Amino acid sequence: MNQEKRSIWVFADYRNYFQNRVTLQLLAKANDLAPNLNAEVCAVVFGFETDEYVAEYIAHGAHKVLVVEDAALKQYSVEKYTILMEKLAGQYQPEIILIGATSFGREFAPRVAKRLGTGLTADCIGLEITEDGNLLQIAPSFGGNLIAEIITPRHRPQMATVRPGTFQEIPHDDSLHGEVVHLPMPKKLPKDRLRLVAYERQPVRDQRLEEARIVVCGGRGMGSKLKFKKISELAQLLSGEVGATRPIVYAGWVDEDALVGQAGKNIKPQVLFSFGISGAIQHTAALADADFIIAVNKNPNATMMKMADVAVVADANQVCAALIKGLKERIQSKSDYSE
Ligand SMILES: Cc1cc2nc3c(=O)[nH]c(=O)nc-3n(C[C@H](O)[C@H](O)[C@H](O)COP(=O)(O)OP(=O)(O)OC[C@H]3O[C@@H](n4cnc5c(N)ncnc54)[C@H](O)[C@@H]3O)c2cc1C
Repeated sequence: MNQEKRSIWVFADYRNYFQNRVTLQLLAKANDLAPNLNAEVCAVVFGFETDEYVAEYIAHGAHKVLVVEDAALKQYSVEKYTILMEKLAGQYQPEIILIGATSFGREFAPRVAKRLGTGLTADCIGLEITEDGNLLQIAPSFGGNLIAEIITPRHRPQMATVRPGTFQEIPHDDSLHGEVVHLPMPKKLPKDRLRLVAYERQPVRDQRLEEARIVVCGGRGMGSKLKFKKISELAQLLSGEVGATRPIVYAGWVDEDALVGQAGKNIKPQVLFSFGISGAIQHTAALADADFIIAVNKNPNATMMKMADVAVVADANQVCAALIKGLKERIQSKSDYSE
């Protein structure tokens, strides 16, 4: 059965709804693209007890929601989800499928693309429709040194993943309407080869790094996991969020959530503190919207120092410790005064 109207699909990753709004951001982008293709925007939901999310997707711009509900889909299952997506895409033939570049999206999207025999552009930072109706997928390439413009002219669907925070969501609007189509769970889904042993949600951060007004970012120049704790302490005192470079995340000094850069998150703080960071393109590509940067580095010629509004040539640990001490003293003197 083919749809009469062309459609742009957004894979609706609802389990992270409150931490990660990438589905809503993709729905907004799909709404931007849809008029150029005379297409409708369709959210695709696999899961269990999803009604409230389905309503949210409509209030954020989905014209249609395709839902497959089953208790077996309650937990993420890359194998089940891949096969379901393959079946539905074969049946409905969407023009475009957009998927959030979350940890799950990154394992899910390439599998779907392979099964559908189409291309996939990962981590797009821009999406447009060309004059001849192809999806222009704009993405960093060659380690972030080039921005590539990619099209998929001979295969459908056109597929792209997009990192959380890249696009702005449409504000919630209860007056929007959409069609909800409940589809049956296919009878013969192969058994998962992966067995879920336990499921534990990471604690919710106070605020999302992508939205934080103050970000304190640390790099290899902090020296050790123990010393890196100062970054968290300073961020907490400033009511900000912790960011980090890739070597720090790889070394396990901080969670992957904190990764800033091409492989992590784009940030747009009013004030960014950057401690012991060299300023590799893969990191700085995500800082374009930072209003004011204060960098601390022993090397005055580090790229990060040249990008900064204030560049402090000093030991990152010492400056971080001094700021913590100063802030604590201020907080203490304020509370003394108020008593
Ligand atoms: C495909 C690809 C994707 C990547 N994606 C990302 C990404 O998303 N995010 C990311 O961050 N990186 C990414 N990288 C890695 C990136 O290329 C850099 O290696 C990384 O950003 C460097 O991290 P850093 O600045 O912490 O470390 P370094 O480059 O080692 O810099 C450390 C800095 O600390 C300074 N320093 C040392 N000691 C002190 C001290 N005591 N006080 C003050 N300063 C000191 C040094 O002068 C230096 O400037 C990616 C790489 C590739 C190939």
